[in-house]
Amino acid sequence: MALYKNQVLKVYNSLSGKKEIFTPINEGHVGMYVCGPTVYSNVHLGNCRTFMSFDMIFRYLRHLDYKVRYVRNITDAGHLVDDADDGEDKIAKKARLEQIEPMEVVQRYTVDFHNILQKFNFLSPSIEPTATGHIIEQIEIIKDILEKGYAYEINGSVYFDVKKFNEKYEYGKLSGRKLEDMISNTRELTAQDEKRNPQDFALWKKAEPQHIMRWPSPWGDGFPGWHLECTAMSTKYLGETFDIHGGGMDLKFPHHECEIAQSEASHGHSPVHYWLHANMLTMNGKKMAKSTGNNILPNEIFSGDNEILSKPFVPSVVRFFMMQAHYTSILDLSDEALLGSEKGYFRLMEALRVMESLEKSSSSTLDIKAWQQRCYDAMNDDFNTPILIATLFEAVKYINLIKEGKERISAVDLELLTSTMQVFVFDVLGLESQEQLTTNSDKLSGVVSLLIQLRNEARAGKDFATSDKIRDELAAMGIQLKDGTEGTTFSIS
Ligand SMILES: [Zn+2]
Repeated sequence: MALYKNQVLKVYNSLSGKKEIFTPINEGHVGMYVCGPTVYSNVHLGNCRTFMSFDMIFRYLRHLDYKVRYVRNITDAGHLVDDADDGEDKIAKKARLEQIEPMEVVQRYTVDFHNILQKFNFLSPSIEPTATGHIIEQIEIIKDILEKGYAYEINGSVYFDVKKFNEKYEYGKLSGRKLEDMISNTRELTAQDEKRNPQDFALWKKAEPQHIMRWPSPWGDGFPGWHLECTAMSTKYLGETFDIHGGGMDLKFPHHECEIAQSEASHGHSPVHYWLHANMLTMNGKKMAKSTGNNILPNEIFSGDNEILSKPFVPSVVRFFMMQAHYTSILDLSDEALLGSEKGYFRLMEALRVMESLEKSSSSTLDIKAWQQRCYDAMNDDFNTPILIATLFEAVKYINLIKEGKERISAVDLELLTSTMQVFVFDVLGLESQEQLTTNSDKLSGVVSLLIQLRNEARAGKDFATSDKIRDELAAMGIQLKDGTEGTTFSIS
């Protein structure tokens, strides 16, 4: 029997502001859409946290035996610098600055995005569509919205008519805003503005002659508005109504609000049953931003090459750190927090190793079935990974006590404990068993230092054959010894 039949999953729906029992539209199947990256720079760690939250959700849904179609797009056009309807396209701007083709920018940063996600042990989404691959679908939706009277064309651009939409539907219901408040809080439109109201947003923008990324349309050469691609791609691959839409908290308004408006204007009904939003990552208590320098790239954590870090951390430690917070809570990254997570992560891995050689008894001193259900209860409560991890650590403690002979476990229970630990640690949390980087480099330094010491002793004893051998063999391995006034140092090439 499918696991989901025995587990009652509840999710926090941003639309209702409540935890709701998750019931998919088609039994046994889940359609999930998550807004992907705009590929104009290296993926930053905050974005990784958002995508990791949905990777964990994807993993748990799969574990519950749902057949999940997970669509996560790549934004390769239409996302303007100021996030609204003005300014340059982010990708075109980068291409201009670096004097390369926009598609070179897209290729470079899509590859970077995939590389980083692979290091973090992400599962691939089922479909990863691009905005530029769905221009036709986007044009079709614009035509439909125009026909239904919720958009207007002006000077080769098409804008969504928020005021008109709000007469029949409710603009702002996801972010809890009222259109009247928005209107009274915004500036007056200037004479150059094409929009009827400041809240209106672009579905299609006319391309100025210098704009490189352009496509023909019934309204002339132009490019789609940013919000539209997600409506086009989610509808195409998941249908007019689907189960889960996810993204970062910062996308709730205006991006997701506009997605809802576009779908309702076009299809006449709401597109999504459950809106899930992942919270942000801060660093040393402050918002991460490139402009302030309070920012870190994933590779800098893996190499330790950032001034806030005392050492490098393997990807699974970072993943474990992220999983220690609930996905809807703000999480603060610091060297101290990562060091704490590293300790926890290696304790967990050690327990998994110890478990392999535990002595079996005729009975158990812990109710493993009840413990297993507590693991599920944690995840069923809106994917509460911190509670899950705390429950896994109850088992870690138990495993260590069995090893010391203070607790007992039966063969059947040990099997259940082992399989459950593996499911939650590897399949659901997505952790991998990784070696401690520093331990290995520390060991290497120790070995080389020992060889330097032996070489010094050989030289002192005038055994130059041995001392030269040590130096030459190390050099052949790419380890160079350098004799100086302060003694011998080494470098690894
Ligand atoms: Zn989106």
